[in-house]
Amino acid sequence: MTRRRWIADSWDEHTASLTGEQASHLIRVLRAQPGTEYDIVAGDRVWHGVIAGIFGDAVRFNLIGEVESDPALPITLLLSIFKFDRLEWAIEKGTELGVERILPIIARRSEKHLAQSAQNRVERWRRIARESAQQSRRSDIPVIEDVLPLKTAARQSSEATRILPAEQERSTSLRHAVEEAIKKAGEEMPSIHLAVGPEGGWTADEEALFGEEGWRSVSLGPRILRAETAAITATAVVAALLE
Ligand code: SAH
Repeated sequence: MTRRRWIADSWDEHTASLTGEQASHLIRVLRAQPGTEYDIVAGDRVWHGVIAGIFGDAVRFNLIGEVESDPALPITLLLSIFKFDRLEWAIEKGTELGVERILPIIARRSEKHLAQSAQNRVERWRRIARESAQQSRRSDIPVIEDVLPLKTAARQSSEATRILPAEQERSTSLRHAVEEAIKKAGEEMPSIHLAVGPEGGWTADEEALFGEEGWRSVSLGPRILRAETAAITATAVVAALLE
């Protein structure tokens, strides 16, 4: 289980406190009780904390122990195969932003010759992820899976909230979908899967298939983003809302 994380407003050696908006959310929305455990970011360290008490508008935690590794965020990025230089950029930036797993998928509009040579690139992508993880001082390296056809990937069952950025979608924003997932997950951090289409976008059939499998279409705003921009933007928004 990945515990939800709060960023301490003040702390000392053994305790940390939340005040302001975070505290009021914890008290009023999540109905915080003494004894509940969370991860607490205090300065540049992460602690395993337990609520000691609620004092007026502040929540105080006892810090039990330092969390050794700074765990990846429970984000899986399904990247359609698109131009390799841009795809590599998406892998590098996704790693910097903390994704846990990247799944390269072959979409209908992935270029044929790229789709054919994609599996031969996987080792290179793993190396890019490793170097990027070191560079951004991650304590772990995201898993880069073997290439899968979109159908197989869309159908993989999962407990995660599965989100499909699609430029035709107008009513549901990514933010809205993630906030709902956070609310539903309570004390835990929700797992989020994000699938980003290739340069030509998803076909209508693909969108329908994702829909049948329980994926939720979301908008990243009124402008059309290139695939790699969409991947990074979506990841950054999810990371910002989760942390
Ligand atoms: N079909 C488009 C390009 C697709 S952009 C065109 O007209 O050229 C590639 C992928 O980025 C899309 O499949 C989608 O997953 C994502 N994307 C780009 N802009 C988006 C937006 N505004 N909202 C949601 N998803 C977006």
